[in-house]
Amino acid sequence: MQTIGVIGAGQMGAGIAQVAAQAGYRVLLADMGLPQAEAGKAGIGKAMARLVEKEKITADFRETTLANIEPVASVAEMGDCFIVVEAATEREAIKRTIFAEVGKVLKADAILASNTSSIPITRLAQAAPDAARFMGVHFFNPVPVMRPIELIRGLATSEATVAAVEAFAEKLGKQVVHANDAPGFIVNRVLMPMINEACFALGEGVAGVRDIDLACQLGLNHPMGPLTLADFIGLDTCLEITRVLFEGTGDPKFRPAPLLVKYVEAGWFGRKTKRGFYDYSGAEPVPTR
Ligand code: NAD
Repeated sequence: MQTIGVIGAGQMGAGIAQVAAQAGYRVLLADMGLPQAEAGKAGIGKAMARLVEKEKITADFRETTLANIEPVASVAEMGDCFIVVEAATEREAIKRTIFAEVGKVLKADAILASNTSSIPITRLAQAAPDAARFMGVHFFNPVPVMRPIELIRGLATSEATVAAVEAFAEKLGKQVVHANDAPGFIVNRVLMPMINEACFALGEGVAGVRDIDLACQLGLNHPMGPLTLADFIGLDTCLEITRVLFEGTGDPKFRPAPLLVKYVEAGWFGRKTKRGFYDYSGAEPVPTR
């Protein structure tokens, strides 16, 4: 059984660990310390228990998957991994420190990959043990459900690294798409301007929250409207990525909508704070404008 490492046992790291364990890899899962890594594994156990209750998966499948996940106290235990996926907090200094630590133990042919949403891969590669064996792997949330994965090569990423990571991603059941290292990669480059434009339209009084969402959902045949989606993603995250697009390209078309900035400054981040474009304190979301 091949061993992989996942660093960061939050929303994304836990999801990545789960799909890798389901695919038959032994997964070493690290976070700030052993208790956080164990909490990440416990979360996977709970999520899979709900699927067993709904008869979507068997209890055996859950047990086998969980048995493949081993929480570890530190990245120093990842010396046997052929690939390590970093999915820690989106802060460059944190990722750089992690790369330095895991770099001390990685084998010469091991690959290091980052799930960053917005930090340039070529720049991050400077902190990796070998830029040729480093690349971006952008999973989507929730990882066990969402099929695509964007593979982002930095300037120095080798063909062999891309091929090995592609084979790994396919074994996880993901549909691979390739992107070069540019702000927002593919999906966020296309999605965030739509969300940002919906915020401009709302701020300028073109329509209210419910009408903007209904029009886009039905008119574009999307599963939900852009403001509902923004509340799911987190308005703080949407603003952060929009700023990356704006600063990374220097193109004014990506300037953040003033209303989005205002909501974030008010601490209205969407579902996670129970208020964004909708109020989530009751049984049903209520539009706020
Ligand atoms: P999260 O806050 O749920 O999890 C981050 C985890 O990293 C936490 O458990 C935290 O304790 C851990 N961590 C912080 N410092 C660490 C360190 N020094 N060593 C080990 N672990 C550390 O965040 P998330 O949503 O899972 O995001 C993780 C990464 O995935 C980020 O780079 C983010 O940009 C990216 N991403 C997020 C999404 C999304 O929709 N949430 C989608 C694609 C990519």
